[in-house]
Amino acid sequence: MSNKKYPIPIMINKIKTAGVALLTMATSINAMAKDKDQFQYVTDRFADIEVLRYKVPDFENLSLQQKLLIYHLTEAALAGRDILWDQNGKDNLAVRDLMENIYLNYKGDKNSGEYKEFEKYLKQIWFANGLHHHYSMDKFTPGFSKEFLVSQINLLPQEKRPANQETLLALIFDPAVKPKKVNQAEGEDLILTSATNIYEGVTQPEVEAYYAAIKDTTNLTPISYGLNTRKIKIDGKVVEQPYKVGGLYSDAIKRIVKELGLAAEYAENPAQKAYIDKLIEFYTTGDLKTFDEYSILWSEETDSQVDFINGFIESYDDPLGMTGSWESIVNFKNKEASARTETLSGNAQWFESHSPVNPSFRKDEVKGVSAKVITAAILAGDAYPATPIGINLPNANWIRAAHGSKSVTLENITQAYDEASHGDGFNEEFVIDEPTRQLLNDYLFITDNLHTDLHECLGHASGRLLPGVDQDALKAHGSTLEEARADLFALYYLADPKLLELGLLDNPDAYKAEYYKYMLNGLMTQLMRIEPGKDVEEAHMRNRKLIAEWAYEHGKADNVVEYVKKDGKTFIKINDYRKLRDLFGQLLGEIQRIKSEGDYEAGRDLVEKYAVKVDPAIHKEVLDRYSHLDIAPYKGFVNPVYTLVKDADGNVTDVTVDYSEDYIPQMLRYSRDYSTLPR
Ligand code: ZN
Repeated sequence: MSNKKYPIPIMINKIKTAGVALLTMATSINAMAKDKDQFQYVTDRFADIEVLRYKVPDFENLSLQQKLLIYHLTEAALAGRDILWDQNGKDNLAVRDLMENIYLNYKGDKNSGEYKEFEKYLKQIWFANGLHHHYSMDKFTPGFSKEFLVSQINLLPQEKRPANQETLLALIFDPAVKPKKVNQAEGEDLILTSATNIYEGVTQPEVEAYYAAIKDTTNLTPISYGLNTRKIKIDGKVVEQPYKVGGLYSDAIKRIVKELGLAAEYAENPAQKAYIDKLIEFYTTGDLKTFDEYSILWSEETDSQVDFINGFIESYDDPLGMTGSWESIVNFKNKEASARTETLSGNAQWFESHSPVNPSFRKDEVKGVSAKVITAAILAGDAYPATPIGINLPNANWIRAAHGSKSVTLENITQAYDEASHGDGFNEEFVIDEPTRQLLNDYLFITDNLHTDLHECLGHASGRLLPGVDQDALKAHGSTLEEARADLFALYYLADPKLLELGLLDNPDAYKAEYYKYMLNGLMTQLMRIEPGKDVEEAHMRNRKLIAEWAYEHGKADNVVEYVKKDGKTFIKINDYRKLRDLFGQLLGEIQRIKSEGDYEAGRDLVEKYAVKVDPAIHKEVLDRYSHLDIAPYKGFVNPVYTLVKDADGNVTDVTVDYSEDYIPQMLRYSRDYSTLPR
């Protein structure tokens, strides 16, 4: 499943290479990351993490009914927090309790090195919802000593000392104990070597044999096998323990169900109430057929403004890719921004008919994919604190085909990322001059969003294959070329006067912001994610490199784009933006031809010539310059706090939203108020 779009983490490789000291140092918060309202986006910074706040614009303009719906859905979201912690590792909750107890009980020197390392470790496990890094999957290495921790345990009151102290100490300090959350290494038993708690006492062959025996491969509407169960062995047999009321995680699920029941009373329409009731039924029975019924009701309900997911959704954390990690996101439609995607979808035929490709490769009738822009109101479980910026659900392919799917962009989250990046030094280091920096400040946010909209709503949906052409003809290069096609469609139209005519942009030069960023990224800055000596492998990165390198080379005779040196540093200079647009159009024409005709050789040659090989000199320079910036590779968010306002008679008159809570207080409050599982 690949239905989540994540912001691309910066400098993944730095964690493993030279940046360790720099990145694990506690560093200062980017105080410049404030917007015109003086909203402070960055709330914490530690290890390789920056924690941000996000705003919930227009919450106050919702009706009281909608606010109460959201309020109860946020309570249902927070009630599931401990489920994910337990799914991520059997002793995660015990370690969290222990660490928090020590943190709250600590009376020693808070400036000591050991204490600071202890606090950093606690922040890291909070962020990861467990003892393993949320992205690299590696177990955290504590920077404090075992002696320090044991001495602190001995200062705790007897009842707060862990019964299984030796087990927990080994888990925290012994690098050989459960080193990886999810192991994907070919040839090993992926279940036995993964730390996640969705299997116990079973091997990979046993689980595979179990599912091979029960799966009906002829069924065209299969359930999502194993989605909501833990797999254990009883009397020598593999048995599934369902997550449900009366089953595993019962206490947490009961509280979720209670809040969902309260939310249902404020549903915006009967169809929404029906899917909430169906979700309650699923949590109560654990029946995966009921989950499919819920998913269909949810997919088809598109009239309400408020929407949410709450459940076992994505299976990235299961080495076998079946069991869903618990998560919840509550949101409401951003009507103004959704008008943007609706305008594009509504004009899909115009864009298709004017695209710079051979007319025989165009679709006679094109329907844009409907997508909406949403405002997140709460992030929880696997979507917290690290969160996706786009989601496309449900995951079951047959439901998507028959009943549609919902594709959303979380624009208040992308806005927070954008604001928080101001003043991080990136533009000062890599953007050629002040006018270009100003252009990026003024127009990159809107053109970046429009680029995504054009790419998703129109780009992928455009074009057609000639009769008889196999849709998999481009084989291993298919996804790189498909992403390039969608990106080029978006780049080409970003500079089209049609966008001004449709009221989507207000300045004919706005597109230059996205063009500059795209070329800078494709030619230079994305290389910071590649280890020295390695090729570019990931499809999206290959696509960006392909487009930028091809346009650079084909514009060389006219000096459209050039590398210039200033004070020994390399910069990208764009001399002719109109010609660059023409080049994007030409490449779109060629890649559409390759796709329409299934011309594998031409596709392969493009990828191999432009998308893979890295110039070692420019690569080294990018890595060096990056290492001097203090940019956190990973970002995540604290949630706002929602409070019921009551009158003298106890009637709820309003729900307020407050943004002042910091990272540590929020984590401690969640642990205090939403510890829903027995220890
Ligand atoms: Zn795409």
